[in-house]
Amino acid sequence: MKVGFIGLGIMGRPMAGHLINGGHTLFAYDINPVPADLVAAGATACTSGRDVAEKADVIITMVPDTPHVEAALFGENGVAAGLTAGKTVVDMSSISPIATKGFARRINELGCDYLDAPVSGGEVGAKAASLTIMVGGPDAAFEKVKPLFELMGKNITLVGGNGDGQTTKVANQIIVALNIEAVAEALLFASKAGADPAKVRQALMGGFANSRVLEVHGERMVKRTFNPGFRIELHQKDLNLALSGARALGLSLPNTATAQELFNACAANGGSGWDHSAMVRALEMLANHEVAPTPQAVAAE
Ligand code: NAD
Repeated sequence: MKVGFIGLGIMGRPMAGHLINGGHTLFAYDINPVPADLVAAGATACTSGRDVAEKADVIITMVPDTPHVEAALFGENGVAAGLTAGKTVVDMSSISPIATKGFARRINELGCDYLDAPVSGGEVGAKAASLTIMVGGPDAAFEKVKPLFELMGKNITLVGGNGDGQTTKVANQIIVALNIEAVAEALLFASKAGADPAKVRQALMGGFANSRVLEVHGERMVKRTFNPGFRIELHQKDLNLALSGARALGLSLPNTATAQELFNACAANGGSGWDHSAMVRALEMLANHEVAPTPQAVAAE
């Protein structure tokens, strides 16, 4: 297939690489220069989203937030300006489900299909082609693009119509944030009580409290490795989508609101760019205690 890829950052770059390795012809664009390794692998660097849309049949976007998708699709020299009927636009960024429905309508008016297909699995999943992909849009468009999804991910689900993929991603981000909060509180409690948090985490890994977050983010909390990974500012964006959506729907998400406040506290202390596991730092400030190995554990090392 002739595939366009717009947004070649932490996630987009390895995802685009898998499409080239899968034998597809890639037309790439980013507001920054297209990474040299992709060009060396055969990607054509394009001058705009319009240029990409004129050359490709399926156009993928992987940019930070709702305004970036809007700019990439409908801005000057954006994708919409280069589309002709029968092409398919696939947004794999994590953005507003409500804005997504509007974007889909505007793309449909040009005779083209739209899929929202955000991902979970992080940079590790993008590199390993093991992303979870949650899709909203028409069946036929999903079947057409599925071979591309299969080169980038493993658990690929058509959830429903346009917007439902993004809604699923917001749900995912609620679960991950609350899991991080739970693991952070538990390790902080254990540490303040005098137990070694590394051993506590290890002890809990086989039981009912186990989770990917305990494994990955719990380890980061114990080892104090807060370089991203997934930046707090991106998780704030996602919880903002959850909380503004909840407000529009007339429902209360009390613990999502608390998790967002803890991220806000991190940001207020210079942590917008920390990995989201650093939520533990906000709780540590409240407790005036840091998750740290016991003196016995340090002595034993
Ligand atoms: P990133 O900031 O590393 O990359 C985004 C890229 O988009 C950048 O290269 C930027 O130059 C480009 N860009 C921005 N506006 C553009 C425009 N108008 N036209 C063309 N290019 C433009 O971000 P990322 O970590 O790759 O995340 C991308 C999306 O994936 C976000 O919505 C994020 O929430 C989601 N996501 C990220 C992770 C993760 O672990 N990083 C995991 C799952 C989902």
